[in-house]
Amino acid sequence: MVEVKVDTLELNMYIDGQWTKSSNNDMRSVINPATGEEIARASEGTVEDAKKAIQAARNAFDTGVWSEVPATERANFLLKVADKIDEHAEELARLETLDNGKPLREAEADIADAAACFRYYAGIVTKPDGETYHVADPMQAMVVREPVGVCGLIVPWNFPLLMSVWKLAPALAAGNTVVFKPSEVTPITPTKLFEIFEEAGLPKGVANMVMGAGNIVGDAITESPDVDMISFTGGTKTGKHIMKKAADTMKKVSLELGGKSPNIIFADADFEVAVDFALFGIYCGAGQVCSAGSRILVEESIYERFVNRFAERAKQIKVGSGLAEGTEMGPLVSQQHLEKVLNYIEIGKEEGARVICGGNRITENGYDKGYFVEPTAFVDVDQNMRIVQEEIFGPVAVIQKFRTEEEAIQLANGTKYGLAGAVFSNDGTKALRVIKKLRSGITWINSYHPTYNEAPWGGYKESGIGRSLGTYGFDEFQEIKQININLQVEPVQWFEK
Ligand code: NAD
Repeated sequence: MVEVKVDTLELNMYIDGQWTKSSNNDMRSVINPATGEEIARASEGTVEDAKKAIQAARNAFDTGVWSEVPATERANFLLKVADKIDEHAEELARLETLDNGKPLREAEADIADAAACFRYYAGIVTKPDGETYHVADPMQAMVVREPVGVCGLIVPWNFPLLMSVWKLAPALAAGNTVVFKPSEVTPITPTKLFEIFEEAGLPKGVANMVMGAGNIVGDAITESPDVDMISFTGGTKTGKHIMKKAADTMKKVSLELGGKSPNIIFADADFEVAVDFALFGIYCGAGQVCSAGSRILVEESIYERFVNRFAERAKQIKVGSGLAEGTEMGPLVSQQHLEKVLNYIEIGKEEGARVICGGNRITENGYDKGYFVEPTAFVDVDQNMRIVQEEIFGPVAVIQKFRTEEEAIQLANGTKYGLAGAVFSNDGTKALRVIKKLRSGITWINSYHPTYNEAPWGGYKESGIGRSLGTYGFDEFQEIKQININLQVEPVQWFEK
């Protein structure tokens, strides 16, 4: 176990172009999940702080300091931010690992993706948009896209920088102003991003960051009549709460929520490839990935062989501090989350499922201060069990058996979620037929997990509303206006003089 010593960072909020402490001077401790040590202290936002940030964003939007600058200027800002992320990539990756726990190689990939996302939206913002329509003479109709206004952006802890960037890059590209709230558990790299915004010359008030508890700062943002839209990524329960609250002021909402995604493996798949991706699908990020392949569905004829091979390989995964050389899976993000995941493992056992690998917290060799859990998998499960239906959000897979294509589809679609899903088969026609039947927004054939800035990300059913990334993700942050122009200006004479 590698001991990591860092000076405790002090993190403040960014409101109207100023680094700001909490209005009541409260601070929250930020913990390294590998060691349980404090690594930062973050200003804990209040309702008053949220209101100041909303006001700053409202003023900045209404005065047009960002929405009315040429698109090329906004693109140049986004490109500058991308370059600065690259410049600081090593530091950002190390901080991400310290705060979230993920292995350094995962953090490095996230930081590179974050820079690429800014570049992608820098490219989009200067491209043609809008349409014209041939309507009845003498009218000409056209459609233009405009920013939504003040956007409340609220993100979770599993990809602290990347989830922030998936919202901030398109929102700012489209000319909105924002009030952003990182997860209270992982505010470090989002704060660094706001330092980069400042260095890159963003006008004051355009991007504001308030830290703190969801039920205080988050509610204040969702309730405010001065906020035009909420873009939220997090749990389905929180998403439902936000949607209800946002209804009072009829805000636009975009929700990226939880999942319990199926990974369907047919007997004709390349066996070792399927095992390998099944492990990656669930244990990458210690299972704390919304799209994790947490339900592995395997065709009956290869089921026993698959289960044995999967367990054999899962036991070899090197769990440890994200900064330690050779670590393949890090700790869970917090003590609270550790307890939640361990509780689900107990629920699984009580429901009668059988553990084939893992099932325990790891405490030997100095791991007792961190939040480590063994890569775990259950068999002998049935579809109604809580461990099959509910999002555990940890390194816990359930492996189910199916006999026919129809049964695989039925089991795969048999939860309230619809985020992601995959099919492994060497029969391309069957693979596509099954993928088309999945009620999920993100799918793969003979792969699991790759994500692209170009392609829309989001879920069906209780996994969300709307899409992130790609042109669809840009659309979320825009209003659409029709403009009708009279080309022959004379009285309409509807009423007699
Ligand atoms: P969470 O819902 O507990 O918190 C997410 C964010 O919402 C945090 O910033 C939190 O402070 C805030 N929040 C909490 N209560 C709030 C309220 N009343 N009003 C406004 N904001 C509030 O989720 P989490 O535990 O941080 O993250 C894990 C969840 O996120 C999982 O369910 C996972 O599937 C989901 N997730 C989804 C995606 C996706 O793209 N679909 C991506 C990443 C994570």
